[in-house]
Amino acid sequence: MTIGTWRVLYEAVVDRKRHCMCQCVECGVRKIIMAFKLRQRYALRCRECKIKQDLVAV
Ligand SMILES: [Zn+2]
Repeated sequence: MTIGTWRVLYEAVVDRKRHCMCQCVECGVRKIIMAFKLRQRYALRCRECKIKQDLVAV
């Protein structure tokens, strides 16, 4: 499953909330993101790629 630039590697439940271990397909960074943020599309790309995109946009 891929959401934005995140590929979901696996899911885990922490504190009774679902989290996803995600890997950015663009730069390869891995990050744990809460599942609802992915579902509601709050977190579609990693911080580094977002900064890069913002720089390109300027
Ligand atoms: Zn990235």
